[in-house]
Amino acid sequence: MSKNIDWSNLGFGYMETDKRFVSNFKDGAWDEGALIDDPMVTMSECACVLQYAQTVFEGLKAYTTEDGKVVCFRPDLNAARLADSARRLKMPVFPEDRFVEAVVKTVEANLDYVPPYGSGATLYIRPYMYGKNAVIGVKPADEYEFRVFCTPVGPYFKGGAKPITIRVCDYDRAAPHGTGHIKAGLNYAMSLYAIVDAHNQGYDENMYLDAATRTKVEETGGANFIFITKDGKLVTPKSDSILPSITRRSLMVVAEKYLGMEVEHREVYFDELKDFAECGLCGTAAVISPVGKIVDHGKEICFPSGMDEMGPVTKKLYDTLTGIQMGRIEAPEGWIKVIKE
Ligand SMILES: *Cc1c(COP(=O)(O)O)cnc(C)c1O
Repeated sequence: MSKNIDWSNLGFGYMETDKRFVSNFKDGAWDEGALIDDPMVTMSECACVLQYAQTVFEGLKAYTTEDGKVVCFRPDLNAARLADSARRLKMPVFPEDRFVEAVVKTVEANLDYVPPYGSGATLYIRPYMYGKNAVIGVKPADEYEFRVFCTPVGPYFKGGAKPITIRVCDYDRAAPHGTGHIKAGLNYAMSLYAIVDAHNQGYDENMYLDAATRTKVEETGGANFIFITKDGKLVTPKSDSILPSITRRSLMVVAEKYLGMEVEHREVYFDELKDFAECGLCGTAAVISPVGKIVDHGKEICFPSGMDEMGPVTKKLYDTLTGIQMGRIEAPEGWIKVIKE
């Protein structure tokens, strides 16, 4: 029985659901794990995650398709990325096949919270792991916990996606030790000061530039950039210090294979931005948010697509990818993991 939730008025927030998956790493091995009821975590006051921020996470969604299945999108890529993030922070890897299994089990145990097709809402899934035992001298933990919880979330944009305004940010997004490509709380902690400051100044997001030369576009705090050229190519920044967005990688395939567009994944210089026709941010949460304007210390770059609606090419990309996710358009092999037929 579906829960008595007002799906159309859900926000993007946390709601406790019935079950979460937990597995512990101790004496060099992961235990088999279990679904549990307790949403609270208890640990040492000196846990490595609390003192030294040894934690990494993932984010993906489950949703109801047009024909009533419950599915999630490319969870194998989240598994691989969590493994990369874990390796970078000297954490043991949670086996990738077991990651996908844990996601499936967690959704199966909370099926009543999967929003219906057409509601715009989805079930957001948050896998994560952290160093749990007490560590006071600086070193990685010996014991870890891997968890998956889920929470229903409303459409990222209520009443349609309005283009946003971004400012060029003077801070660096990630710690300057080559952690920009991993999905870790430490990078988000780094970005909090800058995002609150941006909001206070009337901007929706920060555009981070490469730390070394400050001439190349990286990403925002939590989404990759895509650009559309005036002749209809998709251009998206390539850098070792941005998070490899699964949405962005999927959009590159959609552009090339479904829409017959040329795709360029390469370094993008800030000076090129004025020549693009459309700009967007991509990530699991919003899929694509259109960008209307970028402000560099008072100098404005306004995209021809404007501040009223998504640009026409961005819209095609958005409609095709969400069509694939919602089962209206046939997906490439292996993209859709069916959880409930
Ligand atoms: C999660 C995230 C993204 C978006 O990645 P998706 O896999 O598309 O959700 C982009 N940038 C950062 C920094 C992120 O943490």
